Amino acid sequence: MLGEIKGLNEECGIFGVWGHPDSAQLTYYGLHALQHRGQEGAGIVTTDGGQLKLAKGHGLINEVFSENQLEDLHGHASIGHVRYATAGDGGYENIQPLLFRSQTGGLALAHNGNLVNAQALKNQLEGQGSILQTTSDTEVVAHLIKRARHLPLEQAITEALSMIKGAYAFLLMTEDRMFVANDPRGLRPLSLGHLGGSWVVSSETCAFDIVGATYEREIDPGEMLVISDDGIDSIRFSAPIQRTLCSMEYVYFSRPDSNVDGKNVHASRKRMGKTLAEEAPVDADVVTGVPDSSISAAIGYAEASGIPYELGLIKNRYVGRTFIQPSQELREQGVKMKLSAVRGIVEGKKVVMVDDSIVRGTTSRRIVKMLKEAGAKEVHVRIASPPIKNPCYYGIDTSNSGELIAANHSLQEMEEQIGADSLAFLTTEGLNESIYQGEESLKHGGCMACFTGNYPTEIYPNTMHPYEKA
Ligand code: SF4
Repeated sequence: MLGEIKGLNEECGIFGVWGHPDSAQLTYYGLHALQHRGQEGAGIVTTDGGQLKLAKGHGLINEVFSENQLEDLHGHASIGHVRYATAGDGGYENIQPLLFRSQTGGLALAHNGNLVNAQALKNQLEGQGSILQTTSDTEVVAHLIKRARHLPLEQAITEALSMIKGAYAFLLMTEDRMFVANDPRGLRPLSLGHLGGSWVVSSETCAFDIVGATYEREIDPGEMLVISDDGIDSIRFSAPIQRTLCSMEYVYFSRPDSNVDGKNVHASRKRMGKTLAEEAPVDADVVTGVPDSSISAAIGYAEASGIPYELGLIKNRYVGRTFIQPSQELREQGVKMKLSAVRGIVEGKKVVMVDDSIVRGTTSRRIVKMLKEAGAKEVHVRIASPPIKNPCYYGIDTSNSGELIAANHSLQEMEEQIGADSLAFLTTEGLNESIYQGEESLKHGGCMACFTGNYPTEIYPNTMHPYEKA
């Protein structure tokens, strides 16, 4: 993933297990499969029926948890979270799951998404005397639940969920129950699986494969599952609305081996590449994809155009976060850490370089330059998604509008800035058709607000793009 240099970052992944003696270990492996959704921090909360236990910290899963810590987290149910911290939001207290203890028991929360009315609710809660300990939106939900404590817990949670707006996939856990909720538009992915007699919940189905679980179904928009030793119940806390799942999950975020809302991500990306080849053909000798997330689209482009797919770009897999990065001076001398162009493949060739998206344009410029330095005669850039012109308010850091190249420049200006011989993007219709196909694409339409500016929920006057949070 080149997200950190591209300026496109997923905010979180969540995973939960109910009814397994090794629930914390399974959650650890599940979170490991979701690591691409957040690398800044991770946490696991476990219940043994009597007490909630928490372990969390900054860093990657294998940096946060030791074997001893996992052994201490004994219990038959766990929820876990991996997070990407937005600006000014990276404090230890914001690492999830958040755990609140009271005389009546504990409540742990893990959230993927972003609430658009969090600031308004925070102001309201503080005005009523609540003291918020974190800058995380998730704590707002805990306070709303606490405020409705005169109600049975299930009702207090659905009451709280009815007050929040935006994108959320939630895992909540008490000593004896787990609650799994998806927002009324189902903006973020959330799936249910089973492992023998245990229930497993995950942001992405690739985590089910890792722990040997079987996919059962999606959590419907506006649905809350209540899981306990007595079984599983489904509650609807919002009337069904057309699902507007984040299209960027298919374009970039989810792993190619995941099925998002029943559709395989690799196959969807291949269709994006195929449609792109039909919409924006070019005379060229080879097609190459920017590893890893653009490979599937590049294969689709190659298959549809008849131009051979080649490994023109190679990713160095062993650049860890703690690896000493080269200075600007060494970078200018040609020390490249993440990607290399393969001279033997691209030299003297007209190359189609397929990428999944352009955010700031800096990465594309660097890669075009790299291909030309390796001898490519022409570089034609084909982007397997429409131009990103608007910020995301639903939990994806797409950078703010001022930094988005497509929000500030024409196609021709972008082509010049990145140094490509030609540049073309997939259309929104092409993206919708590639994901939903045929009849289904007429009925469906995921969220495409970062491309079109048509946000599926109300955006409140004080809604901040997560990236802008102080
Ligand atoms: S605005 Fe873009 S990134 Fe955000 S949820 Fe919608 S499609 Fe996804």
